[in-house]
Amino acid sequence: MKTFLQTPIEYLKGVGPQRAELLKSELAIFTFEDLLNHFPFRYVDRSVYHTVADLRTVDTAVQLRGYLIDIKETGVGRKRKLTAKFEDHTGMIELVWFQGIKWILPKLKKGVELQIFGKPKFFGAQWTIPHPEVVEYASVKQEVGLQPVYSTTEKLTDKGFHSKGLEKLIIGLLEQMPSLTETLPAYMLQEIQLMNRTTAYKQVHQPKDLNLANMARGRLKFEELFYLQMELLVRKQINVQKTSGFVFSEVGNLFTDFYNNGLPFELTNAQKRVVREIRKDFLTGQQMNRLLQGDVGAGKTLVALLTALIGIGNGYQAALIAPTEILANQHYETIAGLLEQFPVKVALLTGSTKQKDRRVLHEQLLSGEINLLVGTHALLEDVVQFKNLGIVIIDEQHRFGVAQRAKMRKKSSVPPHILIMTARPIPRTLAMNFYGEFDVSVIDELPPGRKPITTVHRMENSRLQVFGFMRDEIEKGRQIYVVYPLISESETLDFNNLMDGFEAISRAFPLPKYRISIVHGKLKPNEKEFEMQRFVRGETQIMVATTVIEVGVNVPNASVMIIESAERFGLSQLHQLRGRVGRGAEQSYCILMTGNKLSAETKKRLDTMVRTNDGFEIAEVDLQLRGPGDLMGTQQSGMLNLKIADLSKDQQLVADARAFARKILIDDPNLEKIENQVIRSILTDILKKKPDWGKIA
Ligand code: ADP
Ligand code: MG
Repeated sequence: MKTFLQTPIEYLKGVGPQRAELLKSELAIFTFEDLLNHFPFRYVDRSVYHTVADLRTVDTAVQLRGYLIDIKETGVGRKRKLTAKFEDHTGMIELVWFQGIKWILPKLKKGVELQIFGKPKFFGAQWTIPHPEVVEYASVKQEVGLQPVYSTTEKLTDKGFHSKGLEKLIIGLLEQMPSLTETLPAYMLQEIQLMNRTTAYKQVHQPKDLNLANMARGRLKFEELFYLQMELLVRKQINVQKTSGFVFSEVGNLFTDFYNNGLPFELTNAQKRVVREIRKDFLTGQQMNRLLQGDVGAGKTLVALLTALIGIGNGYQAALIAPTEILANQHYETIAGLLEQFPVKVALLTGSTKQKDRRVLHEQLLSGEINLLVGTHALLEDVVQFKNLGIVIIDEQHRFGVAQRAKMRKKSSVPPHILIMTARPIPRTLAMNFYGEFDVSVIDELPPGRKPITTVHRMENSRLQVFGFMRDEIEKGRQIYVVYPLISESETLDFNNLMDGFEAISRAFPLPKYRISIVHGKLKPNEKEFEMQRFVRGETQIMVATTVIEVGVNVPNASVMIIESAERFGLSQLHQLRGRVGRGAEQSYCILMTGNKLSAETKKRLDTMVRTNDGFEIAEVDLQLRGPGDLMGTQQSGMLNLKIADLSKDQQLVADARAFARKILIDDPNLEKIENQVIRSILTDILKKKPDWGKIA
């Protein structure tokens, strides 16, 4: 059985070496199984024929019957083009091909009734169907119900593998397919009423009707999600069993003293809850792996500090890692300020720490004199050794790679507790799948007194009003950010835009009345720092910057965020940027500046920003718009390479699959029961195949 599914694709009739290479390189189809797992993304009801006259009412691919009246080849080489006029009893349209002309030309016969299939587009003054499928009407088997539509690529189409070509291959494969071994236990199929595997594969590719197609998809999706959840839960189990951690048996005097006398304000209920959750982790004797999610401005820094103080109070060292130097400095200053009256030695280590100071730092870390080290990734270098590192807190995790986190774990014999903080709200379904091995805490409450940020969308023609608004706000004593996209810091065009913008603002806001800071990636760290500090101290009223200010920077007096070319930012990035304002008591504003021509998707992004301040809601929309892979960054998206299920659209199925997986593991943690052997063997294969993702994440 295994051997049938594992058969190399070149052994399939109609494939051959050249086409096999293409299937491999274009669609990653290496075996029969891979081809079976190339699922149709849609079905078309082939019993329905449209007419040329009713095309304007449809927006999907259609099927037409009629005759060709004119066939023309024009151009040479890359400009080569084949066009044909096609007519039915209601009117005429044009068909056009740019590729695969030699395959299609022999099929274009005049005087024979043809059936064509494709998606019509309205070009200029007439309907055109690019690259339609063409067959003789007389040859069509009329009992055909639903026709699958497969994704393909240009290169494959070129070699005759358009959707229809792939369908033919798959039909051939299904005809020789033996009955497949079931991959889910019988009791499960029964309990959730799932179709068996063999039938599911047949029906997903060649469904008798839509109902059966949906049942087949449901079965295959469930299987995929079930094993994903099983994998995550089992990895978590293994992790918990293996990794013991330090016990911080008491909260300690330091924590208590600071809590009673050092806190600048009362903690929010959400902050208190999270501290309690962390506190519990410290008592278990296992290594803590906790992810702390909280929208920008939710007050994560204070939670980080309290967490560190528990560790220090128990005689261990703590480290806090920030993604940028500016942030590390800011954390250091905040924390050193808060701890001034307390017996804690705090130190700062970043890329610009001088060699001479470093040597002292290294010694004091090794001797245990330093209790809390704040820094950037410079802190991960091998020369930085601790006496007894007990807790590591990583701020704004998404800038931190898996590799860095792994390094951090190696800094002490017993792995330190790890708290990862992120301001990027992650939709529940995703968090579950990504951080399956993490426990998740959420700060879902902003500190009191915050006014929601007012967000508006403006176009270039409102520029003068926007400048006027800026003047009014500066008059009131507020400060303003103006942010430009600089996707890649080396992009000259972006850089020029930033500089043009800076000049325009300098003209509109002249010295000596107005002072402007500018920060971008081409400045040296100390220059950036200097500019930033001028703004932080209130010496400049406007900060023109690229996205380097995206994370964490805290200037409570800044109450206006202007985002230039807002259409070029992703939704979560816009939300992050907006989070730089709204930190003080004043009403804050975010102005999204764009050009006039916006795509539907961009409009949706902007509207969402204008409508809500809720990071979780924004993350959900972002997930719908971009899909999970993009959302989480490519480095992690391997985990989400699902074949048929969709984490954003199939949320209910995800939840069901997880519940089922959990139930099984509670009942049979080591999968020893006879009826679970099938799960055990498949899961063993999965765990063997994937790199040890769990250990490093
Ligand atoms: P983030 O979660 O984005 O890291 P910060 O920790 O920077 O947020 O906190 C944002 C601001 O809110 C800071 O100025 C901080 O001093 C303030 N803050 C934090 N917790 C509270 C609280 N419980 N009450 C009032 N203000 C708070
Ligand atoms: Mg922060």
